[in-house]
Amino acid sequence: MNKKVGVIGGGQLAWMMAQVAPQENIDLLVQTPSFSDSAVSLATKTILGSIDNAQVTAELAQYCDVITFENEFVDLVELQKLADKGVCFYPRLSSLSPLLDKYEQRCFLQSQGLPVPHFKAYESLTDFDDFSYPLVLKARRHGYDGQGTIIIKSPSELTAILPKFDGIPLLIEEFIPFDRELAVIGTRSASGEIKIYPVVQTYQQNQVCRWVIAPTILTPSQQETISSIVEKLLTSLDYVGVLGIELFLHENGTILVNETAPRTHNSGHYTLDACVTSQFAMQLQAVTGKKLGDVTLKSSGAVMVNLLGFENAHSDYQEKRDKIAKMGAFVHWYGKKESRIGRKLGHVTMLLDEDTPEKIEEKGRSIVQQIESLWYD
Ligand code: ADP
Repeated sequence: MNKKVGVIGGGQLAWMMAQVAPQENIDLLVQTPSFSDSAVSLATKTILGSIDNAQVTAELAQYCDVITFENEFVDLVELQKLADKGVCFYPRLSSLSPLLDKYEQRCFLQSQGLPVPHFKAYESLTDFDDFSYPLVLKARRHGYDGQGTIIIKSPSELTAILPKFDGIPLLIEEFIPFDRELAVIGTRSASGEIKIYPVVQTYQQNQVCRWVIAPTILTPSQQETISSIVEKLLTSLDYVGVLGIELFLHENGTILVNETAPRTHNSGHYTLDACVTSQFAMQLQAVTGKKLGDVTLKSSGAVMVNLLGFENAHSDYQEKRDKIAKMGAFVHWYGKKESRIGRKLGHVTMLLDEDTPEKIEEKGRSIVQQIESLWYD
């Protein structure tokens, strides 16, 4: 009989998990606030309710063997009461708890000896004395897609911005002059098996991911450092499932951890078309106790471009999508009814067959330009 996996969240990540669930012999059920959310059309069952409502999760749990997450904005205290009654969560709630608040996450990473930017919780103005400009200010909770992350260039900018965050707990962070931003998806099963996908380059504009190129150019020692960061994180959290890890490659060549997300991640969307096992199948395999699949790229490289909203409108942009598909691309459209500026509406993946990471990057960047000019024209 099919295993039943409940997902807290019904957006595009759950939607992509639902696409691969049948091939894993899994029924996917979702908890999500609206019947118009992406995953509803593919889910076996939808329990309607907000993500942080543990009573709704209790109902979801009645139908499921295990509950997992596409969204970490949950109420851990209330979910723990369900876990105490025997509801199975993977990743475990104890693995999520050090990660949900960006300050606590930084403290955890540092306690594990992992390299992170210099940081401090904001309590009073004197806390800024330790930092030079530019500096980075982040909302400690509920930030995503750059919302809640601001790069501050001067004391006057800081004075203007601070009142807008009144009452919101903040993290202050040194600005890292990075050469590139990188990301990697790690997976661990309950039996401790670990699989690590290729390290990718990600490009953010206004703190939102625009594109990803896989694999990225790394020295053997950088590759080794990243693999050991992923292993350390997965084992120290006693983690089960897929973990997204964002990294900075400092211009001095060192690697720092920016943040880690306890779920499938935008930087891993390319795996759907480009890897033997996608991050979504991998998540299902890990949380249902299966042997983990093969993370190898099916081509020498791949590029993924996010289709971000560029206007407030109700359109399915079929014509633009058709033009992009004609390039030989895999177009994934999340079926959202409403477009808003910056909203993730879909993504596009193209496989590359260049034979070195340098050529993959060059070709990848030229494909990004073509896709973005068709999308944003
Ligand atoms: P979110 O959780 O919303 O993705 P992040 O903390 O990952 O927010 O920040 C979004 C982006 O902002 C990063 O990908 C990076 O481009 C930039 N950024 C964040 N922190 C720093 C930093 N300390 N130094 C330089 N750039 C940063």
